[in-house]
Amino acid sequence: MPKLLLGCIADDFTGATDLANNLVRAGMRVVQAIGVPDGPLAADVDAVVIALKSRTNPVDEAVAQSLAALRWLQGQGARQIYFKYCSTFDSTAAGNIGPVTEALMDAMGCDFTIATPAFPDNKRTVFKGYLFVGDVLLNESGMQNHPLTPMTDPNLVRVLQAQCRRKVGLMDHAVVARGAAAVRERIAQLKAEGVAIAVVDAVSNDDLLRMGPALTALPLVTAGSGVAIALPANFGLSPSPQASVLPPAQGLRAVVSGSCSLATNRQVQDFIARGGQALALDPLRIAAGADVAAEALAWAAPLLARGPVLVYSTADSGAVQSVQSRLGVEQAGAMVERTIAAIARGLIERGVRQLVVAGGETSGACVQALGITQMQIGPQIDPGVPWCHAHALGQGLHITLKSGNFGGDDFFTRAFEVLA
Ligand code: ADP
Repeated sequence: MPKLLLGCIADDFTGATDLANNLVRAGMRVVQAIGVPDGPLAADVDAVVIALKSRTNPVDEAVAQSLAALRWLQGQGARQIYFKYCSTFDSTAAGNIGPVTEALMDAMGCDFTIATPAFPDNKRTVFKGYLFVGDVLLNESGMQNHPLTPMTDPNLVRVLQAQCRRKVGLMDHAVVARGAAAVRERIAQLKAEGVAIAVVDAVSNDDLLRMGPALTALPLVTAGSGVAIALPANFGLSPSPQASVLPPAQGLRAVVSGSCSLATNRQVQDFIARGGQALALDPLRIAAGADVAAEALAWAAPLLARGPVLVYSTADSGAVQSVQSRLGVEQAGAMVERTIAAIARGLIERGVRQLVVAGGETSGACVQALGITQMQIGPQIDPGVPWCHAHALGQGLHITLKSGNFGGDDFFTRAFEVLA
């Protein structure tokens, strides 16, 4: 088997897809693995992104998972390692970005790496080490109130230093703007000053592309998904439709949606307004013991041959709160996720081979219920959301996993057009 060029470790599931999507668009053939694979990779690809769930775990667990991923990627011959975290640098005072970075550096015997969540296309920019989300600093973006990882300091050098034993420094925009040679020079200078991890400024995609060639020398890169646009070129690859080729699509088509975000509400309305075949699920009937999954499958079975069906629990915030106040937030969520995952299974058993799943948690539940462990990344439908090809229940399946606020209003219709 040819050796992997790039081995990636992502600290959450939808972040892994976002990274994989950027690599594909820059010319790499990519497989996303859900958790550390238990054997060698079957497919011939340029990069593997291992999706972990390590963003908010206790530090020890996050480190252990990341090192297991590293060992597997090294076993596949990966020439460079990419640790991917959130573009809002989601972490707690304890970690996990710093401790995981240092554990990887220790294991790889690596004396220098970079850290930058910058992704200007998604309005995440870093200037003088300060992270901006759109037009405001990180700590004014709403992220200061995040329930798990409140980000109250926009200065990433300070934030990362608080999580690290090694010295953290800054490669500022004046250097990046001068290009790869200046970046190389600055890396040497930082190393001489005892800095082991440098936060790197980037305010445009051009900054990421300019620094790209200087990253060849680093065995480990840590970043959001933005830096990925610059790495394939270092391996002699350029954007090509070949990178996103999937097996031809066939079979019946369906959408399942458990996302209640504003974008998904609009997508459901748009699908219905175009005359799409749609069925709403009632969480209260699930709670009352009705076999809502069996009912939905009985509804869908005769309609599938006519075109895509949509089965959704998507509702506006008022309806969701009313359900949550009666059932409890977590119970309602888990119950709906289980039902939608059972429906996804049943749809595949009834011949669906093109499946759109809306909702981050909902996607996790469906992927698990379908026994999917690896996905080949295909063409992008909307920014950050590609079609993928996977094996599910012994069948080849095209699947796309859309997290909450992603996608245009016509996503549920256009997704199938992209595949056709
Ligand atoms: P998003 O990506 O939009 O956040 P998720 O799937 O991650 O979507 O989260 C949505 C959560 O809301 C899931 O746990 C899902 O089961 C739950 N849910 C879906 N529909 C309803 C509903 N009608 N009432 C209450 N909870 C719901």
